[in-house]
Amino acid sequence: MKPASFDLFQPKNWQEVLEGLQEYGEDAQILAGGQSLIAMLNMRIAKPKVLIDINSIEDDVPLIDNKTNIEISALFRQLQLENRIKTKDDLPLISECLPYIGHQQHRARGTIIGSLCHADPSSELPLCFIALKGQLKLNSLSTQRIINAEDFFLGPLLNSRNHNEVIKSVIIPKAKEQTGYAFKEISEKHGDFALASFAAIASHNNVRFVVGGVSDKITARDWITDDLNEIESLVNDFAWDLDTATDQYTTDRYKRDIIRNLGFETIKTAISRKNAR
Ligand SMILES: Cc1cc2nc3c(=O)[nH]c(=O)nc-3n(C[C@H](O)[C@H](O)[C@H](O)COP(=O)(O)OP(=O)(O)OC[C@H]3O[C@@H](n4cnc5c(N)ncnc54)[C@H](O)[C@@H]3O)c2cc1C
Repeated sequence: MKPASFDLFQPKNWQEVLEGLQEYGEDAQILAGGQSLIAMLNMRIAKPKVLIDINSIEDDVPLIDNKTNIEISALFRQLQLENRIKTKDDLPLISECLPYIGHQQHRARGTIIGSLCHADPSSELPLCFIALKGQLKLNSLSTQRIINAEDFFLGPLLNSRNHNEVIKSVIIPKAKEQTGYAFKEISEKHGDFALASFAAIASHNNVRFVVGGVSDKITARDWITDDLNEIESLVNDFAWDLDTATDQYTTDRYKRDIIRNLGFETIKTAISRKNAR
């Protein structure tokens, strides 16, 4: 199928993007890497009247390396972050998840922020972004605000951005001392979307555990314990609490089993990495 017809607007700076969003409102959609949006246009799930292509923006600041966090702009590609030498050390969780996103060709084009905005509950970056408690900076012509990751994702392909806002950058906290990070997922084959994905962060005697792909929302739990027997039982309770349902790929029972097995393994890996740091 081909997309419904649309006008293409290629602004040269952020001011023009904001003016375009103000003028066209709900009728406009931002085009970043196009790795999700073009498919949505082709299937006519999205039918914007105007596409605002941000790829020609000249006043974008790609990445700011602050003391405690990294600020990544709207045009920073997934592969750029993967190839950045320091990512393994300062963003170990993100570094571990990036190779699982589609294939290298998609990551060469797809942006970090595009993946977050697409808000697919099976996507790796939203899962890790929630685990790390990242933040998004949203700008309109007259407002600026910062949203926490957990408040941004509302459901499948739904986020809390207003129509006149663009996300110019996201803030991701850097790895902390004596903290272990781990990511794992299961999919039918490499590069496919995850049937279930997990992120775990272990520090002192705290564990933060996040589950994606098994229900409409990525869900996080924080526990104050590092006792593995206790955690195994908490993971089991969590698996029952989640709104898992049988779909065309797996049964809800399989989803619970995978949380209890691979999910628990993810936590064990994070704890062992914490002890090794
Ligand atoms: C074959 C294939 C396999 C894939 N496999 C995976 C996978 O395993 N895991 C996974 O997570 N993803 C996968 N993807 C999707 C990929 O990660 C996309 O790159 C990502 O979802 C979107 O990033 P993008 O820059 O291409 O955004 P686009 O497709 O351009 O945009 C996506 C959405 O975000 C909005 N948007 C983009 N930037 C902004 C902004 N700055 N402000 C406001 N709104 C914005 C757009 O309007 C649109 O609604 C796959 C894609 C393909 C084609």
